[in-house]
Amino acid sequence: MTHRYFIEQPIDQDSATLTGPEAHHLLHVMRAKPGDQVVLFDGSGDEFLSRVEKLRRSEADVTILGRQTVDRELPSPLSLGAALPKGDRQRWLVEKAVELGVTRLIPVETERSVAQPNPKVVERLRRAVIEASKQCGRNRLMEIVSPQRWVDFLQTGDGACVRLVAHPTPEAQPPNVLASVSGPIMIAVGPEGGLTDDEVEQATKHGWQTVTLGPRILRIETAALALAALVAMNMEAQSTG
Ligand code: SAH
Repeated sequence: MTHRYFIEQPIDQDSATLTGPEAHHLLHVMRAKPGDQVVLFDGSGDEFLSRVEKLRRSEADVTILGRQTVDRELPSPLSLGAALPKGDRQRWLVEKAVELGVTRLIPVETERSVAQPNPKVVERLRRAVIEASKQCGRNRLMEIVSPQRWVDFLQTGDGACVRLVAHPTPEAQPPNVLASVSGPIMIAVGPEGGLTDDEVEQATKHGWQTVTLGPRILRIETAALALAALVAMNMEAQSTG
């Protein structure tokens, strides 16, 4: 794949200028030269074959050669609500969620949550979304919305869509219902300390179904990505099958 660069402003002219970390990547990491071809994307779903023109110390001008819609999104939106893990594991969760095709990440605040993402953290995670999208070829950015309280999160979205909350109890069913499901799906995982009985009860009251991911206790990010992968691959299989 030709090297990809993200540009914040919608591309609607026949030239563009890369700035900030994207210019740094092009100039100092990839050491691009005038005449090199690169691909730009602006989050609109399209990608733009482009030619590097003029290089300055921290900016690069490119000419847009062509525009193409390339859809690498899941067949239906997949929203993931997660009590975010701490530190590097947060970034890892975001990176892998982007690769798997998650449409929207909702950081949720639960009774036993430890990491409460502040705006600076969310900003850093958005940068991780761009990096992962460059690598995996997505032309739309996974959205990271402002943190929501668990009860508020439970009520978001279309009530008719399938909603699964991962919870390690013997009563929960494995998520095998997915084989016959189409349309938007919401999934959720709790904090390292687990969801409280009240939180699980609120979820079921709002139409969420509890699912188990096996007898082992998974870290937040493992649980989130295991469930996201299962849902995403089922969606892909049904749309091609
Ligand atoms: N001690 C906690 C474990 C929390 S693990 C407890 O007993 O609930 C963090 C989150 O990952 C959980 O809230 C749940 O959403 C998810 N999770 C981890 N392991 C799981 C499993 N085996 N099945 C379903 N969900 C799991």
